[in-house]
Amino acid sequence: MTSPKMTPRIAIAGAGIAGLTAALCLSRLGIASSVLERSETLDEVGAGLQLSPNALSVLDELDLLPPLRAAGVAADLVELRSGRSGRTIAEVPVRSKDGTPYLSIHRADLQAVLVAAVKSDPKITLRLGAEVATVATVAGGLDIGLAAGETIGAALLVGADGVRSAVARRFGLAPAQPTGTTAWRTTVAADPKGPGPAGSGTGREAGTPPARITAWLGPRRHAVAYPVRAGTLRNLVLVTRSGDGPKDAAALLGGFALGGFAHWDPRLVRLIGAAAPPTPWPLFSAPAARPFVLGDGRVVLIGDAAHAMAPYAAQGAGMAIEDAAVLAAALATEASPAAAARRYEAARRPRIDRVRRRVGFHRLVYHLPPPFSLGRNAVLGLRPAEALRADLAWLYDWRSPKLRP
Ligand SMILES: Cc1cc2nc3c(=O)[nH]c(=O)nc-3n(C[C@H](O)[C@H](O)[C@H](O)COP(=O)(O)OP(=O)(O)OC[C@H]3O[C@@H](n4cnc5c(N)ncnc54)[C@H](O)[C@@H]3O)c2cc1C
Repeated sequence: MTSPKMTPRIAIAGAGIAGLTAALCLSRLGIASSVLERSETLDEVGAGLQLSPNALSVLDELDLLPPLRAAGVAADLVELRSGRSGRTIAEVPVRSKDGTPYLSIHRADLQAVLVAAVKSDPKITLRLGAEVATVATVAGGLDIGLAAGETIGAALLVGADGVRSAVARRFGLAPAQPTGTTAWRTTVAADPKGPGPAGSGTGREAGTPPARITAWLGPRRHAVAYPVRAGTLRNLVLVTRSGDGPKDAAALLGGFALGGFAHWDPRLVRLIGAAAPPTPWPLFSAPAARPFVLGDGRVVLIGDAAHAMAPYAAQGAGMAIEDAAVLAAALATEASPAAAARRYEAARRPRIDRVRRRVGFHRLVYHLPPPFSLGRNAVLGLRPAEALRADLAWLYDWRSPKLRP
């Protein structure tokens, strides 16, 4: 079956965080779109995410902060600890001055909030089981071929189809490459006594410690823990070199006690011991030179499809959300989709490159072996908390363009 050409005007490949947010941002600006999602159902995949104030400022523009606050936990600081001793190296404040929170949240909760908003929006059509297989530029627009055989006409295709982007592949772009590291993701029931290192933090009472994200650093590996699901669960991520993880089911069931974390901070070892068996996520990175605009300006990549990066700065979803708002604002104001696409790329590339450099810096600094780690600890320990916050102001203080027509 063939749909009439130019309906929808804007098609979005992928109903992940990038695609759903893009559709909502466009709708806020009066622009209809159709989201084409390969999966038959929107499964609750993934684990925890940190969403910093820059990303949450977009979701605030979409009036989605109240349900996100209810599902997530607001953090005051990120604490960096020595993996072995557990000693605090530094505490980085992440609370923003304008009150936009820094949330830790389960990816399924974020997706549920976005999907509910999309489903109740008459300007958005969400099609499941619609895998984008081909894209061809034709006079006046695009022909988008679905795997099931249907062809859809559009003026613009937004490729929000993730790290293995079929849209990028169709235009001959080099695929994302393995980084050589793997994230082992799991969850642990939260300690009912409340916050503490990596503890829960909703409804914090006077005298209880501030809610925090905890990162334990060590040679070749690190671990991160933070509360999700309104503080009832803790998300635990163990990052190792890809060859260093557990080799078999027995090691997996040993919850890493047999792995390189065995002699680390007893608080971390206890968390690992209580956790469900972790799931491995090999980490990929898209080539830095990958263009974001293709097909004579009629195809735009956003999110992981454009710039997948390892999660050392916890910004992959954040950058996807920022991309969505910047692209929507450009489409609402520029005369043509191609002009909007160019403006989007010009605005996003310097920021994405800077985040990418920060990811590389964190990878280096987090995994330093002794004696270099001692120097790192001394330098970080001497910097006042406000200076550590100021180092990241360029990242966290970014704010969404206004999304009002
Ligand atoms: C261990 C780990 C920890 C992380 N922690 C954080 C964090 O703390 N903070 C943060 O901001 N980010 C974090 N990230 C990164 C974040 O998860 C990703 O950057 C984000 O999910 C990317 O969203 P996306 O919408 O671009 O892609 P995806 O979420 O992958 O969505 C892509 C969608 O496209 C669909 N699709 C694929 N192909 C097609 C096709 N051909 N046609 C139609 N649909 C298609 C897929 O089914 C999917 O629904 C982390 C990642 C990892 C691995």
